[in-house]
Amino acid sequence: MILPKSNRLTPEQLNAVTEIVTEFGCKIQPIIGAVRTIYAIVGDERDELMINRLEGLEYVDRIDRIQSPFKLMDIRSDLATHRIRAGGVTLGEELFVIAGVCTIDPKNPNYFYETAAAVKEAGAHMLRGGVWKPRTNPYTFQGDVKSLDILLEGAQRTGLPVDTEVMEEAHVTLALDAGVTALQVGARNALNYSLLRAIGRAIAERDTIVLLKRSMHMGSINEFISAAEYIAAFGNPNIILCPRGTAPTLDGYRNHPDESITPLLKEKTWAPVVVDPSHSVGKASYVPACALAAVAYGADGLCVEAHVSPNHGIGDDPKQSLLPAVLAETIRQAKQVWALRHLARKN
Ligand code: PEP
Ligand code: MN
Repeated sequence: MILPKSNRLTPEQLNAVTEIVTEFGCKIQPIIGAVRTIYAIVGDERDELMINRLEGLEYVDRIDRIQSPFKLMDIRSDLATHRIRAGGVTLGEELFVIAGVCTIDPKNPNYFYETAAAVKEAGAHMLRGGVWKPRTNPYTFQGDVKSLDILLEGAQRTGLPVDTEVMEEAHVTLALDAGVTALQVGARNALNYSLLRAIGRAIAERDTIVLLKRSMHMGSINEFISAAEYIAAFGNPNIILCPRGTAPTLDGYRNHPDESITPLLKEKTWAPVVVDPSHSVGKASYVPACALAAVAYGADGLCVEAHVSPNHGIGDDPKQSLLPAVLAETIRQAKQVWALRHLARKN
């Protein structure tokens, strides 16, 4: 829909607009109002180049799109009935929990093994553990490929599927070859379209899951869903959206908590939403409330950092990891909130 700056387009302006849309196989249908005339684009209006050209006309105020820019992740797509299953849970049918350390310490693997057993006991369905880490400072610990074996050993010991972050194509290959179930795209790489494409290509023929974090710089909901579309375009739609807080921070929190975008996402996409309260608020004492808020907003699950001894952890663990007992209580309460929401929906 084309909204002109003035009340209607002049005949010359209408001609110019018609010429552009015709080039892209569309037509213009004026909708004449008492005060203002607007112009419907009839046809497939998803071509970005056509929209850019129309938006570039000085007499066009804005273009409102009727069609969704995402073909696969859209709530109206045929994939809307697609369900993702992991760790014995079908997302959307039961609260799904990913938990584990921020960063595996390759020098002290027992902390990871003990944490793995503890998060399973607390009720987690998937085990997280950072092998490669995106760090602000290049001199801090960047991860270690040796941790991949530790991660998979944790999977073996607990029977839980595992999630780990991949930052480059080589990590994707190593993680898939090792048997990682969920590839995490971190907030810093959620706008890295060549990585998103490489992941899409690598998992096209597999049932691998992608946990796609929201970039701290992603303002719009469409931008987030479009990032998922990049991966799904190759054929595997197992993508979970993970809000984890945005920039600028909310004074006192690590990021600006964004669990409240869950219902906005759910209006536009069928993709499950698993909120990460740990990176959102960034301090263990604030995490449980954020987790409960996420479920109240309609999240399908949670991704929570936990550690048997946070002070002995590396990466984010000393600040934001929950002790297993706190994780267990948070999951128990989150399930209650989940039940209330689903009861409310049925009535
Ligand atoms: C993490 O999960 O440990 C992490 C680095 O998260 P994010 O990409 O959201 O900062
Ligand atoms: Mn972390």
